[in-house]
Amino acid sequence: MIKTPKAIIVIFGATGDLAKRKLFPSIYRLYQSGKISEDFAVVGVARRPWSNEIFRENVKRSIHHFPDDNGGQDIFASHFYYHPFDVTNISSYHELKSLLSTLDDRYNTAGNRIFYLAMAPDFFGTIATNLKSERLTTTEGWIRLIIEKPFGHDYDSAQELNNQLRMAFTEEQIYRIDHYLGKEMVQNIKVIRFANAIFEPLWNSQYIANVQITSSEILGVEDRGRYYESSGTLRDMVQNHMLQMVALLAMDPPIKLTAEEIRSEKIKIFRALKPLSNNEVEQYFVRGQYGPGIINENKVVGYKEENDVDPASNTETFVAGKLMIENFRWTGVPFYIRTGKRMQEKSTEIVIQFKDLPMNLYLGQERKTHPNLLVIHIQPDEGITLHLNAQKTNSSVTSTPIRLSYCNNCADKMNTPEAYEILLYDCMRGDSTNFAHWEEVALSWKFVDVISNVWSNNKATEFPNYESGSMGPKESDVLLEKDDFHWWPTITTRFKGESDNENI
Ligand code: NAP
Repeated sequence: MIKTPKAIIVIFGATGDLAKRKLFPSIYRLYQSGKISEDFAVVGVARRPWSNEIFRENVKRSIHHFPDDNGGQDIFASHFYYHPFDVTNISSYHELKSLLSTLDDRYNTAGNRIFYLAMAPDFFGTIATNLKSERLTTTEGWIRLIIEKPFGHDYDSAQELNNQLRMAFTEEQIYRIDHYLGKEMVQNIKVIRFANAIFEPLWNSQYIANVQITSSEILGVEDRGRYYESSGTLRDMVQNHMLQMVALLAMDPPIKLTAEEIRSEKIKIFRALKPLSNNEVEQYFVRGQYGPGIINENKVVGYKEENDVDPASNTETFVAGKLMIENFRWTGVPFYIRTGKRMQEKSTEIVIQFKDLPMNLYLGQERKTHPNLLVIHIQPDEGITLHLNAQKTNSSVTSTPIRLSYCNNCADKMNTPEAYEILLYDCMRGDSTNFAHWEEVALSWKFVDVISNVWSNNKATEFPNYESGSMGPKESDVLLEKDDFHWWPTITTRFKGESDNENI
């Protein structure tokens, strides 16, 4: 295990939801597992007039569900310091600077600093500019900046933000979080593809019929109606998480496992995405908005009835799309994506559907084919299932579908690291592989902007067009049916109650 170098983490937005739910627990898990150097300090910044003591109590509250070995949580919390100020007030940065120098001496952190911007994106540019002008970025050690999503609202705003950040930080110092890239099974895509002789030779248009990526949520917008109204599913999920998974599934093998080489292969995929003309948007993409329905036997309201949502809202809460990658490996193979809120189940899953054999001798009277599928379960189950065909007991003329499964998190769910834990650890070690580079962000915004422009110019008169608790609007099914495919039900729905290898 590699210990992180000594460093101070400065969290802007330290009284907020992300810090409480994700960041403090992740830092604690790194500390508990011995991955973080004992010489570390965390400085929280927000406006609330808290003291160090109140801040530490809040930190402890956010980790109380973890086992506490001999008062270890008190020692852990003693590394946390709170510095209240409004980030728009430039004069307060002087005091932060002197606090950081004091802590540098106390913890021997040698000027190494991570600035984590866990705040509304409107502040990102201001904070970066102030950090630079007040010389908090000038130290003896290394400096890194972690930026939360959303990174811009479209290509132009993302570029403007990037220009602002780049005045203060180099591209190498900027770590843009896409927390999907911190998920174990998303990282596993590369390993499954590039460490197995049986997949890579088949990983192309000759053998793969289509690829399907589903990321569904049961939850609605909850208390984030205001944010969602300005975002929608296309910006919130497709521009970042869904396109990142497409790139990992489609990229060529990198020549080395370095951030630069992997990124360069991913960027080629973003560049190879077939751009859509305005007229093609409706043909390749489907939008949806949830209406009322029943979830877990409870009635739920439609999106338009949610708090802070315009009763005439045109915002999509569901997107399905067909992406074509125009390169030697993938021409002709559709990559289907679908993602939405208030759907039947919470699941993120990738299905790689292989082409049927040119002649199958074991179809039986039904003449029904069961294509080989490789299913990568991202969440909540983590694992892989390979769907094959084998002989049915007492029958030698027909085949029956069987499944081989591997579960990554079945044995020890508690100890599976969270995405934020993995990403913080990576950043502290200076590994930017699982963060989004500006070029990836820029290309994905350019792809998505065409769709969002068409959708904002043409109001969706059919909204709401799917019932809460369903798998989205029927047009999403039609998108695949036009190509003679269908969405594979996610494993949880499809094989409820069955054991994995029961047909063998
Ligand atoms: P939040 O709960 O609203 O927290 C915002 C934080 O910013 C609070 O600590 C607030 O503290 C501080 N703040 C606001 N204005 C300030 C100012 N002028 N000066 C100093 N501090 C100020 O937001 P969040 O949910 O944690 O989200 C933070 C970021 O993470 C956002 O970019 C969001 O999109 C992203 N994100 C969040 C989640 C999540 O699960 N929460 C998931 C993915 C991405 P005071 O009120 O005390 O000033």
